[in-house]
Amino acid sequence: MSAELQLTELLIDGKQKPAADGRSFTVLDPSNGTAIAQVALAGKADVDQAVAAARSAFTEWARMRAADRGRILFRIAEAIRYQGERLARLESQDVGKPLSQAKADVEAAARYFEFYAGAADKLGGTTIPLGPGLMDYTVREPIGVSGQIIPFNYPLQNTARGSAPALAAGCTVVLKPSPEAPLTPLEIGRIALECGLPPGVLNVVPGDGETGAALAGHPDINQVTFTGSVATGVKVAQAAAANVVPSVTELGGKSPVVVFADADFDLALTAIAASAFGNAGQTCSAGTRLLLQRGAEEFLDKLVSYAASLRIGPGLTDPDIGPLVAARQRDRVLSYVDLARQEGGTVRVGGAPSDPALADGYYVEPTVLTGLTNDARCAREEIFGPVVTVIDFDDADEALDIANDSPYGLASYVWTRDIDKAMRLAEGIRAGQVYVNATGVGTGVELPFGGYKHSGWGREKGLAGLDSYLQTKNVCIGFGSRS
Ligand code: NAD
Repeated sequence: MSAELQLTELLIDGKQKPAADGRSFTVLDPSNGTAIAQVALAGKADVDQAVAAARSAFTEWARMRAADRGRILFRIAEAIRYQGERLARLESQDVGKPLSQAKADVEAAARYFEFYAGAADKLGGTTIPLGPGLMDYTVREPIGVSGQIIPFNYPLQNTARGSAPALAAGCTVVLKPSPEAPLTPLEIGRIALECGLPPGVLNVVPGDGETGAALAGHPDINQVTFTGSVATGVKVAQAAAANVVPSVTELGGKSPVVVFADADFDLALTAIAASAFGNAGQTCSAGTRLLLQRGAEEFLDKLVSYAASLRIGPGLTDPDIGPLVAARQRDRVLSYVDLARQEGGTVRVGGAPSDPALADGYYVEPTVLTGLTNDARCAREEIFGPVVTVIDFDDADEALDIANDSPYGLASYVWTRDIDKAMRLAEGIRAGQVYVNATGVGTGVELPFGGYKHSGWGREKGLAGLDSYLQTKNVCIGFGSRS
C-alpha cells in the first residue's frame, strides 16, 4: 500500500467507516497500472451492519410520502449533474473509459434518478369490480431491503440504474460495487446523503466475490439485483433462492448486428462501431456478432478502415478507445484473438497495440475477425473487449436463424431500408431489445432492458424496472348486505 493514498471508506448508515477487520484493496489506473486509491474491503461483518442499517431505515423511508421521496431523488439527479465533471474524471481514471463516454454516463446516471423521481408518486394500484357489497383494490408496496451487486464496466450507470427505482419504490439499498470500479458508486452514496437521503437508505460496501456472496445470501434482505457474468449470476440467484428471495439477473450478451446489403452504410458504420468498440467493448449489449449479407462486403472494408483510424489512449485524454479495466481482462481478450487464428479465422485489423507509449496500460486495438462461422467460440462466447466477429448470410431467414443461434439474448440490431425484412427480424429475434436502424438511443433510461435465455431474467430501466421493487397486496372488503 502506498502511504500517500487516501483510504476510501465504506458507507454504512450515513457514515464513512473502515472495514471491521481493517482490510482494504488498491485500485489501479488501467491506463498505466499505477495505484490511485486504497479502498476499504467490506467483509461479512460490514455487510451485516449495512443490511441492519437498511432494514432499520426501511420503515420510515417506505412510509414517507411518495412525492417527498421523489423530491430527494430529483435533488440527487441535479447534484450528479452539478458535480458531473469531477465524477466523469473519476470514472475515466478508475475504469479507463474515454472522458466523453464517462460524461455520457454521468448524464445517464442523472437521468435514472430524474426518471424514477418522477415515477415515485405514480405507483398506484387498481380496483377490481366484484359486484355489490364488495370492494376490492390493490396496493403496490415496497418489497423491502434490496441487495445490489454490480460489475466493473458502468459503475456510475449501474449504481443509478438499480438504486434509483428501488428508492423511488420505497425500498432501501445495500450496494456492492466491483473491486475494479468502486470509486463513483461511493461518490453517489455520499452525494445522496448531501441531498437529504436519510442515513441507512443507501449503503455502499465495495468488496470482492465473498462480499457479494455475503450480501446475496443474507437472510435479512428481500430482493437481489445482480448485474454481471452468467457464472456469478447463477451463484447469486441460487443464494437468494435459498432464502426465498427473488432476484433480477442482468447477465452477458453476444448481440447480433444484422447488416443487409440495402442498409445505409454510412449511418450504420458509426453506430455499429460505437456499440462494438465504445467502452473498449466492455458493454453487455455491445453488438459483437456482425451478420453481414453476402454482397455487402463494401461495409466490411469501411468498418476495417474505420477501426484502424480510431485513436487509443488514456481515458482522461479523451481518445476513441481507452484501456480495458484490468490486465486480466486485456489478457482474456487477446487470448480470444489468438483463438480466432487457431479456429481458422483472419484478424483483419486489431490485436495488441504496438505503440510503446501504451505498453504499461491494458490496451487492445479495435479488432475485426473474419472467416469464422457462428459455431466458432469467438462467435458464441462473450469476449468483453473491442472485438467484432463477422459472419456471412444470404437472406433474412438465414440471418434470423444465425441471430437466434446463441446462448444469449440481450440486445440485437438490424440495418436495412426494407420494412419487411426489418419487421421479420424484429418479430423473430429472441432478445430483450431490438433496434432497427438505431443503436443506444439517448441514454436509453426509458427503455425496458433485460435478457432472454442466458442473458438473464427480469427487467431494469423504464417503468418496467420498478416492478422488481414492488409487491402487490390485494384488499377485499365486504360491506352491507350482499344477498
Ligand atoms: P462478474 O460476474 O465477475 O462480477 C460481477 C459482480 O459480482 C462483482 O461485483 C463481483 O465482485 C461480484 N461477485 C463475484 N463473485 C460473486 C459471488 N460468488 N457472489 C456474489 N457476488 C459475486 O462480472 P464482471 O466481470 O464484473 O462484469 C462483466 C460481466 O457483466 C459481463 O458478463 C457483462 O456482460 C455483464 N454485464 C451485464 C449487464 C446487463 O445489464 N445485462 C451490464 C453490465 C455488465
